[in-house]
Amino acid sequence: MCIFCEIINGNIPTNKVYEDDYTLAFLDMGQTTYGHTLVVPKKHVDSILECDQETNRHVADTVTYLSSLLVKKLDAKGINIVSNAKEIAGQSVNHYHVHLIPRYSSDDDFSIHFSENKTDLSEVLNKINK
Ligand code: 5GP
Ligand code: ZN
Repeated sequence: MCIFCEIINGNIPTNKVYEDDYTLAFLDMGQTTYGHTLVVPKKHVDSILECDQETNRHVADTVTYLSSLLVKKLDAKGINIVSNAKEIAGQSVNHYHVHLIPRYSSDDDFSIHFSENKTDLSEVLNKINK
């Protein structure tokens, strides 16, 4: 059983933020920023790439609800919502999870860098829509 399934089943104690029939949210033990929270589906799927639409709708509902709640209650100025899928993308726990990372200042301990690259956009679109 994976570590997040152990948490969901109550075999490992955790700091629960929210729970409903389909999802659980708990504080990430790393606390990248203050209040860093993980939202997971109770049903084990490895990542969003294996997740069915219905399960993901439940995850999205919880993400939507908790994003506003965390910003409001923790007095954050914004929030990053991130899900890493597969090792290449930085996924280290193979149970689908969405990171909610409240932001307080631009020089806090989290950043995403979007670089710019010259890319043939029509070629990309052709591949996607082929
Ligand atoms: P990933 O790197 O897969 O996107 O994120 C995994 C996250 O899970 C990390 O931020 C890590 O701190 C967190 N994590 C791993 N194991 C546990 C655990 O046992 N309890 C909690 N609360 N967080 C965990
Ligand atoms: Zn699992």
